[in-house]
Order: sequence, then structure tokens, then C-alpha cells
Amino acid sequence: MRKTLIAGNWKMNTDRATAVALAKAVAEGAAEVEGVDLLVCPPAIYLSAVGEALAGSPVALGAQNMSPEDNGAFTGETSATMLGDVGAEYVILGHSERRTLFGETDLDVCKKTHKALAAGLAPIVCVGELLEEREAGKTAEVIKSQFEASLADISETQITSIVIAYEPVWAIGTGKVASPEQAEEVHADLRRLLTERYTAEIAESIRLLYGGSMKPGNAAELLAKPNVDGGLIGGAALKAEDFLGIAKAK
Ligand code: 13P
Repeated sequence: MRKTLIAGNWKMNTDRATAVALAKAVAEGAAEVEGVDLLVCPPAIYLSAVGEALAGSPVALGAQNMSPEDNGAFTGETSATMLGDVGAEYVILGHSERRTLFGETDLDVCKKTHKALAAGLAPIVCVGELLEEREAGKTAEVIKSQFEASLADISETQITSIVIAYEPVWAIGTGKVASPEQAEEVHADLRRLLTERYTAEIAESIRLLYGGSMKPGNAAELLAKPNVDGGLIGGAALKAEDFLGIAKAK
């Protein structure tokens, strides 16, 4: 059975002191959360400090992005190996903000996914449609094409280390959450795509997260859906009480 994963994407928020305090509060509260994996993804510059604050707790550490390159003359970039070196176990890849604001393509996401896996990190690969794509009835088509291109040439062994996050772009930071039925429809499609490409057994083992305005008040009904295996939380991950409240809603 898939274990629920509640992951916090802190985006470009916090400073050193608030990041450490938030991590400590999540680590302390984690004892009250049963049967759910917790993960926090702070800004890269605070990974080490947050990792120290989480030491000895069951809360995992992840990054929000990484370079597709190993090392070399790539000013300002951070490699997968560097992330692993400071304790990251997961890395979010292809978040819609990376795709829309920084021009990341499916090909970039795919390269990063392969590099992350090679470095022993678990990628959280994000997919999601724009509002106009949903309104044009193209959601399934967009998700399929992102799935195929972002996860090209991923083997059966590799896919079992990957988490997929469905984040409808119109629901991110807008307060407009997808209905549980809308989320489940896309998650079921993703499960079907995984079954077609791999095996039913492999598809059943992969965690599919929902992201987009998830909060303690709407988490229970989303997490109750059979193919929603957790959440990728933005705004509500910046308050330990809300983040843990979402985990407790499962
Ligand atoms: P919000 O929870 O703030 O809508 O952000 C979702 C998200 O983008 C997580 O990666």
C-alpha cells in the first residue's frame, strides 16, 4: 500500500531563523502524525540549517530545483550531488513556476530527473494544466504529454523512486482548489499511464500528490480519493500548524 506523503514547498520564503523555527516545529509535531511521511523543501540556501534542525526526526529534507549538469561553469547553479551532500533526499522538478517563469521545458525536466536519480535523490516531478487548457477540454492531453516527455526513458527500476505531483496551475496560490473529483480524475489518468508504460504492480506502488491551495480544511476530502496519495503544499506549509493539520487530515 502507498504511504501518504505530505510535502511542503516553501518556495522563496522564510529567512534563516524562521526556516529553522518552522523545521523544528514540524519536527516536534511529527510525533502526533501517524502513517504519513513528512517532507519539507526549504530554499536551497537553508537546506543545511533546516537539515540540522530536523536531525533525529522522521521529517525528510528536499530541494525545490537543481541543475541538469554534473558540475562545471554553470554560475549560480546547484547540482544533484551537492543537494545530496547537504542531506536532501528529494528534489521537486518541473514545478509550474519553474516552467512558466524560468522557461523550463519537459526536456529540461527529463534531464534533471535522470540526474537526480543518478545522484540517489527521489524526484518529485510536477505536471499540471493551465486554466485555458482546462477550459478548452485539453487537461488529459496536456498531462499525458508532460508525463511522456518529462519522464522519457525512465526504467521500471527508476520509476519506483519517483513521486509525481499533479498541480493544476490555476489552483496554485489562488485559493481555488481543484475539487476532489477533478483531482481524482487526473490522478486516475496518471495511474493508467503508469500501468500502460510499466506494470499494474509498479503503477500501484507510485505516489501521486495533489498540489494547489491545499489546506487543513480541504485536505481530508482530497486525501480520501483512492489515487490521491498525498499533497504538495505551498502557502499552508509555511505554518507548522497548518502543514501538520493537513497531514492529520489523512
Ligand atoms: P499553494 O499551496 O500555495 O497553492 O502552492 C502549491 C504549490 O505550488 C506547491 O508546490
